[in-house]
Amino acid sequence: MNEFDLIAHLQQRFQAHAQSGSHVPAVGIGDDAAVLNVPDGRQVVVTTDTLVSDVHFFSNDSPADIAAKSLAVSLSDLAAMGAEPAWFFLAISLPQPDLKWWDDFITGLLEMATTGAIQLAGGDTTRGPLLITITAMGLVENGQALRRDGAKAGDLIVVSGQPGLAALALQQIQAGKIPTPEVANALKQPQPRLALGRALIGQATACIDVSDGLMADLGHILKASACGAEIRLRQLPRIAAMSGLDDASIWNLQLAGGDDYELCFTLPPARQEYLPELQKQSGVALHVIGTVVAGSGLKLLGDDGEEFQPDRSGYEHFSTRPA
Ligand code: ADP
Ligand code: MG
Repeated sequence: MNEFDLIAHLQQRFQAHAQSGSHVPAVGIGDDAAVLNVPDGRQVVVTTDTLVSDVHFFSNDSPADIAAKSLAVSLSDLAAMGAEPAWFFLAISLPQPDLKWWDDFITGLLEMATTGAIQLAGGDTTRGPLLITITAMGLVENGQALRRDGAKAGDLIVVSGQPGLAALALQQIQAGKIPTPEVANALKQPQPRLALGRALIGQATACIDVSDGLMADLGHILKASACGAEIRLRQLPRIAAMSGLDDASIWNLQLAGGDDYELCFTLPPARQEYLPELQKQSGVALHVIGTVVAGSGLKLLGDDGEEFQPDRSGYEHFSTRPA
């Protein structure tokens, strides 16, 4: 097994996928660079993310899960911009060429590429510590991309799915417990909210994907939009798997836990009536959790308007030194 065998195997397993669907590259894997056709009237949305072993996943996680999650986080960024996935590039370094590991990895990658209807257009394969960088490209109608800077005072703040569930899984694993499959899947098999992102075009005033914790990521919208917000903590989605925990533990998980890959967006109050339709189109539960206000800062309101102080604000790579 050498570099070229690995690439050939990947290309062969992606062959059927590469020949079907839209956005087939004009020149794909096999030349020095890819050539891609951009349809008239659309812009290219590009995102890149690196996943590091034992930071973003456990090195003994299944190769299929590692691959699917690596692509899912990039698809989640495209979803947050309202883009339709088109192409991705996989740069991977591997400690050794292991055909079984590689084949399982490709299985997970193919599955997520099928979910996202995205074409593998190229990449790079090297020897080194296990490290995966995916660059994904999507298409959006000219000028229509969802951004972080459009929220206005009075807008509703909405979040999809079950924020905090992935953080619960991580907490249980770190405590030596085995999470239920539903809880574990939130961490190991996140699902990008692509249909929701597309449906939010022309509706949401701002949007972000929640990867570093709801509070931190909503904070990015507020900063970009020069607004503040009030979150009513009782309106956060109720999560059955957290029913044994006290309010503060639940809120800490939901506000500051990372790895959710849900969308958080702002919606003018006049469009609240579309929420059931948005929920139907996107197949994911939507919860209004608060309101954008004039000024700055985030108020977390518990019962009787009492303010809640979370333990930490969210995940930040340089906040602690590695051991
Ligand atoms: P170069 O030496 O010109 O960089 P490579 O030998 O690295 O070429 O790559 C040959 C072809 O295989 C290119 O089209 C490249 O995009 C593709 N490729 C290499 N590694 C990967 C990978 N991990 N995933 C997808 N395509 C890959
Ligand atoms: Mg190369």
